[in-house]
Amino acid sequence: MNKVAETASSSLFPTYARYPIALVKGDGSWLWDDQGNKYLDFMCGLAVTNLGHAPKQVKEALVKQLDELWHVSNLFHIPNQEAAAKLLTDNSHADAVFFCSTGAEANEAAIKLARRYHQKVKGNGRNEIITFAQSFHGRTLATLTATGQEKVKEGFGPLPEGFRYIPLHDYEALEAAITDKTAAIMIEMIQAEGGVIPVEPAFVQHLAKVCKERGILLIVDEIQTGMGRTGKLFGFQHYGIEPDIFTLAKGLGSGFPVGAMLAKGELREAFNAGSHGSTFGGTPIATAVVKATIEALLEEKAADRAAETGEYLMSQLREKLAGNPFVQEIRGKGLMIGIVCSGPVANIIAEGQKRGLLVVTAGPNVVRLLPSLLISRDEVDLGVSILTSIFADQ
Ligand code: PLP
Repeated sequence: MNKVAETASSSLFPTYARYPIALVKGDGSWLWDDQGNKYLDFMCGLAVTNLGHAPKQVKEALVKQLDELWHVSNLFHIPNQEAAAKLLTDNSHADAVFFCSTGAEANEAAIKLARRYHQKVKGNGRNEIITFAQSFHGRTLATLTATGQEKVKEGFGPLPEGFRYIPLHDYEALEAAITDKTAAIMIEMIQAEGGVIPVEPAFVQHLAKVCKERGILLIVDEIQTGMGRTGKLFGFQHYGIEPDIFTLAKGLGSGFPVGAMLAKGELREAFNAGSHGSTFGGTPIATAVVKATIEALLEEKAADRAAETGEYLMSQLREKLAGNPFVQEIRGKGLMIGIVCSGPVANIIAEGQKRGLLVVTAGPNVVRLLPSLLISRDEVDLGVSILTSIFADQ
């Protein structure tokens, strides 16, 4: 255990079970701790540093903006915000963007927009949101209520009303959950925290069809799957659907705290001045970073690289871990990959840290791999060889 971990401050709320490591420097796919130990990063701050640590283009844009202007109120026009929003709408089917600072806040905005659209624009009073078992949508009161995991909700009642939950891929439960009050269905294209579970294409298409036919809004939570992670800029692009609303955070800012809610044009009028807002959403600094991140992702063809590298990584893992009795399945898309095991994987995470590889869990039995989208083949090979040696010792 290093010095910082030994003397860790009791001045913090114990909201995280922290690893005994204090990371102090990052570059590309590599991180260093305060003892000078080096780690290959296969978790990217949980799908945040998609371009690697300290990407040159984003750093330059941030430093330039630091010299010019940090913050102004959203009561003024913010040129960077307009430019970042245009980049997002030019590269998706969305027409309108709301900027905020976290994923939970983006999902909160999505839930509010869906309800307000039905209540103010359509005048139909709909307010119910359907979400899925094992989903994760955030830690604010509405988003933890939307989350399909009981442990996230314990002790926080009373929770907001109007949420219904169904098992993933359950067509009958979906039918039974829809009422004349259903405002929206909210889903992740790969349940990330829930265990790296890609949604079946037929179910996604069914959802899109049902939503369209019954005037229900489809909200896709792209907070972990977005920004190239799964091999497309947005995860829903694998399925040929266009959600009414989708949300971004994590990889949108390369490590700077940003979030965004995007929607089709007909939803724009559901929000007016004063109906929603955020002091820090879309500030000059935040959106300089967003703009540079999107430009760099496009320039580097990061999504295509994630698709290619992901296929390679998955095939290497399948080959090298074949026959290992602890490994049940390797699944995922692009560079969001889960190694599903027959028991708890905490030991694999700890061994990885000892051997210089950072990976994370997705639920108790799944090792989740989220390397940089720009990771090199040599770095992938190194990660695979460390994982192979760890699994061989299980
Ligand atoms: N939605 C998904 C799919 C996530 O993975 C997360 C974070 O892990 C969130 C929402 C919440 O994002 P944040 O922690 O930025 O509030």
